[in-house]
Amino acid sequence: MFTIDTAVSAAYVVAALLFILALAGLSKHETARAGNTFGMLGMAVALGATLVMAFDGGVDTTATVLLVVVVLIGAAIGLWRARAVEMTGMPELIALLHSFVGLAAVLVGWNRFFQVEDNPDGAYARRLDAMDLLGIHAAEVTISVFIGAVTLTGSIVAFLKLSGRMKSSPLMLPGKNYLNIGALVVFIALTAWFVAAPSIWLLIVVTLVALALGWHLVASIGGGDMPVVVSMLNSYSGWAAAALGFLLLNDLLIIVGALVGSSGAYLSYIMCKGMNRSFISVIAGGFGMEAPTGDDTDYGEHREITAADVSELLKNASSVIITPGYGMAVAQAQYPVAELTRLLRDRGVEVRFGIHPVAGRLPGHMNVLLAEAKVPYDIVLEMDEINDDFADTSVVLVIGANDTVNPAASEDPSSPIAGMPVLHVWEAENVIVFKRSMAAGYAGVQNPLFFRENTQMLFGDAKERVEDIIKAL
Ligand code: NDP
Repeated sequence: MFTIDTAVSAAYVVAALLFILALAGLSKHETARAGNTFGMLGMAVALGATLVMAFDGGVDTTATVLLVVVVLIGAAIGLWRARAVEMTGMPELIALLHSFVGLAAVLVGWNRFFQVEDNPDGAYARRLDAMDLLGIHAAEVTISVFIGAVTLTGSIVAFLKLSGRMKSSPLMLPGKNYLNIGALVVFIALTAWFVAAPSIWLLIVVTLVALALGWHLVASIGGGDMPVVVSMLNSYSGWAAAALGFLLLNDLLIIVGALVGSSGAYLSYIMCKGMNRSFISVIAGGFGMEAPTGDDTDYGEHREITAADVSELLKNASSVIITPGYGMAVAQAQYPVAELTRLLRDRGVEVRFGIHPVAGRLPGHMNVLLAEAKVPYDIVLEMDEINDDFADTSVVLVIGANDTVNPAASEDPSSPIAGMPVLHVWEAENVIVFKRSMAAGYAGVQNPLFFRENTQMLFGDAKERVEDIIKAL
């Protein structure tokens, strides 16, 4: 028989399928737009079905007014932020959004505690008791609060680090690994205790331990590993949503949480492989990583070049590789870079782009900027596809990249970014580095590339300098 319940269940299945299509679509450039549309449709179906279910028992005016007001406020803030955010600010915005999922999991966990464990004579508690599910519910409460609180503070620290409000270097507390493991053991013990004898004090301690653990886990991870942290927190937020699904008996939340949790974990794994980092050590808050040693090496003097001289070099070059980084995004230099590429190609110069997997501040950042400026896809190559070609290249233009072209990563085992694969730009005949000063990159590490014989620095805003070169050409 057709009931509201069956209609809602059917809508949830449709929404879950749309979310799976969204993930599949987002995995390729060509289908990303369709993927986004599937995601939006899925969310609309899910919201609609949830509203229908919420009002199934009759319309309560206060609840309706509250719901509409809250949805309108949320939608307005979401629209405003999405329109206002710069591409370079996306990772910190995403980190902040993850913290909301964490906060929701903590609040719902606490709410359920007051409904059930703190109110054993209430209708909901009696229903669970009749099904012998009180113990499982208690465990769900602590797990939801724990995952939520870790995600909450972890995401806040990630937001602070990514927006430069907190130093990106790793926090190195003595015995930090034992602190993390200790917090996990305390949580397991408290959960067992809470299941046996629920009390508000136990839940307060679980919340505090998890808040501290989330803070410490992310604070212990250094700048260069932040890309993995962002996708790891994405995964945590998925698990927090799945935990919410169990508490709220909502199948769609469980499915969507598991999708986000597992795809985030897989993305973190791929990024760790790309950066030659141990997955376990990153998700365990820098477990086993050593404190970086300060770099006091004197690399000598750097040399400077003018835009006019760069244009002369480019006129006589046979092949050019451009390696963009975060600075290109800050300067919004992708449009003049695309124009320069067109001019050089018209003159018969071979121009290609070398893209490092973590260049910029979010996966695919450079690809999106170059696509926006209509640089043809076929000359935009991944690091592995182009790394062997630098030795046969006349000129490399390093536009606002720093950590991703740092030779110390492959040559200095004591460097904090040692082992991270980098673009071998220094093997080219001439390297021109576009940046505003001699400041370090995101990982806070000195870059010996700037002092090499074949490197020259072109100081200033990347967009202005590229425009100067175009004029001189
Ligand atoms: P970096 O962040 O290492 O360096 C960027 C450089 O751009 C700086 O040295 C800066 O130098 C220069 N710059 C800034 N503004 C301008 C401007 N207006 N004009 C010219 N130059 C400018 O860049 P990379 O892309 O090489 O490396 C990315 C780093 O970010 C890696 O450490 C990565 O791990 C990390 N990260 C990556 C994420 C991802 O998912 N991709 C997420 C989070 C972190 P100056 O100030 O002197 O101009």
